[in-house]
Amino acid sequence: MSAAPQTLDFQAEVSELLDLMVHSLYSHREIFLRELISNGSDALDKLRFEALSNPDLLGEEAELEVRLEIDTEARTLTVHDNGIGMSRDDVVAQIGTIARSGPRELFERMQNKADGEGLAGELIGQFGVGFYSAFMVADKVSLVTRRAGDDGEFLCVSDGAGEYTLADARRYGHVTSVTLHLREADDAKDIDDFTDEATVRRVVKTYSDFVRYPIKLGDQTLN
Ligand code: ADP
Repeated sequence: MSAAPQTLDFQAEVSELLDLMVHSLYSHREIFLRELISNGSDALDKLRFEALSNPDLLGEEAELEVRLEIDTEARTLTVHDNGIGMSRDDVVAQIGTIARSGPRELFERMQNKADGEGLAGELIGQFGVGFYSAFMVADKVSLVTRRAGDDGEFLCVSDGAGEYTLADARRYGHVTSVTLHLREADDAKDIDDFTDEATVRRVVKTYSDFVRYPIKLGDQTLN
C-alpha cells in the first residue's frame, strides 16, 4: 500500500552541515561528484559482499556500474548505481541523520582559518559527509532508491533547507539514483556547468579515475 508523502526534519547537525555546504564553501565545489561516485562505488561493494551469501541479490542484473546522466533541458545531473540501495529506514538513518561526531569537528576545522578553504574538499571526504556536498552545486536533490532484495522503493527530495520529503516510488529496479537540480553555472562562485559533458568527463578523470567500477556517460566509460 502506498502511503502519503511525509515531510521529515533533518537532524539539527545535518541542517547545520547543509547550511555550511550552501553558504560557506566557495571553492572546489566539483568534488561533490567524487563524493557521489564514491558512495555509488561503496554501494556496489556492499552488494557484491552481500551477494556472496545471497547470490539472488545480483539476479540477472547487468554489470555493476555507476552511470551518469545529463539532462540539459531540465538542468539536472543524475548519478545512478545498481548497488545495495537503501530501505526507507536506511534513508532516514543514513541521509536524515549523522551518527558520528564528524561534522562537529568538520565545522571547527572549517572555521579555523589556518586550514584554509582549499582543504574543504579533503575534509568533506575525510569526515564522511559526502552526500550533502551535492548542495554545493544543486538547489534541490532527489534520491530514488530501493534496497536490493526489497520490494519498496522510495523517493527522497530536499532543497537542503532543514527538511526532506519521503514518498513511495514506482520505478521497479534496485538502481539508486541521485538527481541534482543544478544551480546556475557561475565562474565567480566557482560553479561549473555540470550539464556540459566535457566538464563532467574532466572532473571524473581528475578525482575518480581509479574507481574500480565503470563510470559511464552515454556509451562512454570515463575511468
Ligand atoms: P559516507 O559515505 O562517508 O558514509 P555520506 O554522507 O556520503 O557519508 O553517506 C551517508 C550514508 O548514506 C552512506 O554511509 C550510505 O549508507 C548511504 N548512501 C549514500 N549514498 C548511497 C548510495 N548511492 N547507495 C546506498 N547507500 C548510500
